[in-house]
Amino acid sequence: MIDGLPPGELRFLFIAGRPCLDLAATVGERWRRSFERLRTPDDLSRWLVETGMCDSPPPVEQAQLEAARALRDAIYPAAKSAGKGALAPADVAEINRWAARPAPAPQLDRRRRVRWVAERPVEAALASIARDAIDLISGPLATRVRECAAEDCALLFVDTSPPGRRRWCSMDGCGNRAKTAAYRRRHVRTHERN
Ligand SMILES: [Zn+2]
Repeated sequence: MIDGLPPGELRFLFIAGRPCLDLAATVGERWRRSFERLRTPDDLSRWLVETGMCDSPPPVEQAQLEAARALRDAIYPAAKSAGKGALAPADVAEINRWAARPAPAPQLDRRRRVRWVAERPVEAALASIARDAIDLISGPLATRVRECAAEDCALLFVDTSPPGRRRWCSMDGCGNRAKTAAYRRRHVRTHERN
């Protein structure tokens, strides 16, 4: 256990449907205690590999970790406002600053595979996440950013379902738990009546 957290809680989630929201999900349980999943520079290095943005773990310094957290903390409120109202100027400035930096470049090999390369892989990954955030926040999917409806989850995700009525971050996680709980409540009520 780390600070009372079971190790499973520190695993990274990639279910939001967009890299910028996956970065936002590196803060866990925003509805309750907002714990940090990017605790050390190595965590960020591992996250970048797990996203698929880096082929091998890049060296990460403390300042780069802090930069990633600052970008994340600008993306979260900007994405959560889901197309409503004006954005906070500080969040906009932070996202724009990163989006202006060079993103990874695609490089083709003879087998038609693409590798994404960058001189500064950490900064380039943050640049590409900031660009993803701009695309999401300014585009038609801005109003499809949802917060998971489960009481004990506050994950932001993009609802790309055609009717646009998705409520949970994942069907097998929160969706399933909500259905089981509803079933149990109905069952208990029926039981009490008899
Ligand atoms: Zn959820």
